[in-house]
Amino acid sequence: MLSQTMQDAINEQIKNELYSAYLYLSMAAYAEEANLPGFAHWMKVQAQEEVGHAMKFFEHMTERGGRVVLQALDQPAVEFASPTDLFEKTLEHERHVTSLIHNLYALAVKENDYASQVLLHWFIEEQVEEEANATQILATLKMAGDKGNALVMLDRALAGR
Ligand code: MG
Repeated sequence: MLSQTMQDAINEQIKNELYSAYLYLSMAAYAEEANLPGFAHWMKVQAQEEVGHAMKFFEHMTERGGRVVLQALDQPAVEFASPTDLFEKTLEHERHVTSLIHNLYALAVKENDYASQVLLHWFIEEQVEEEANATQILATLKMAGDKGNALVMLDRALAGR
């Protein structure tokens, strides 16, 4: 059985993961309007992964006798400055999520909640991946620039995710 403290914290993280999906969908909408279908595809896949993260916490809660209580989501940013801005904000957001996951892990340790610690090991590794992916694409974007042939090539590459 999950403690009420852990249930509250996991409900908060379900919201954070769903907000991530919302943010990446908003980035996808920007990319669609900017005629960058590859960027839009990458962001849509990312949004689906975030829903998957929320569902991992959802199932963990249910399996351990907790009660999922969904919370209101904030409106994500609508406008972005450029393709580079998308990935600067993606990296910034993923670093923020990493800190949230680390805080949740610290709480699970404090609460002697071993099962949640095991679940959170997966998320800790996942965040390493998330930050590495965003860092790599951002580095490529900085070489390619925000317009021209190199950006078109990168858009095609991102379509292959
Ligand atoms: Mg996530």
